[in-house]
Amino acid sequence: MTIAVYPGTFDPIHYGHVDIAARAAALFDELIIGVYDRPAKSLLFSTEERVAMCREALQAYPNVKVFPYRTLTVEFAREHHATAIVRGLRVISDFEFEFQMALTNKTLAPEIEFVCLMTSLQYAFLSATILKEVAALGGDISGMAPPVVQEALRRRFQGKGDPASQVVSTIVARD
Ligand code: ADP
Repeated sequence: MTIAVYPGTFDPIHYGHVDIAARAAALFDELIIGVYDRPAKSLLFSTEERVAMCREALQAYPNVKVFPYRTLTVEFAREHHATAIVRGLRVISDFEFEFQMALTNKTLAPEIEFVCLMTSLQYAFLSATILKEVAALGGDISGMAPPVVQEALRRRFQGKGDPASQVVSTIVARD
């Protein structure tokens, strides 16, 4: 049985993530989505909210499970007996970061392979930051994120005065 972990912040999950998860779920017997509990960037949603949205967004895939984690990613992968860590690549700048992370993780856990899947063309522009910015400004996000996420973003930004000010703290150098 082949098990892979797909780790990330998922703040919140969007269709770019869903696409990578669905494709990885077809490659491995089981895919564990690891929702990182304490990334070095500010978050819009709590870990519980991010996990719940991932579970709902991926409920159509019976071999996908979602768990939060706060350890090293390789420890989380070992805990779940995973032999691979899946990540998504959008642009060249993603590659630099993923390459560094992959080599770091390979040093820590030589038995775990890193599998990067290229984004599907229609999601190449999409990031959680872009999604939150568009949502905060009242734009149409129906093509960007599952209904559960659209609703959560609508509630989060509803009646908050100047919507742009709500999202400033969520913007990070990379996401
Ligand atoms: P992290 O904070 O670990 O980068 P993210 O939640 O932003 O976590 O992303 C998780 C993974 O999904 C990363 O490998 C990222 O490159 C990938 N990803 C994000 N958006 C897309 C997209 N539009 N297409 C393909 N992969 C994506």
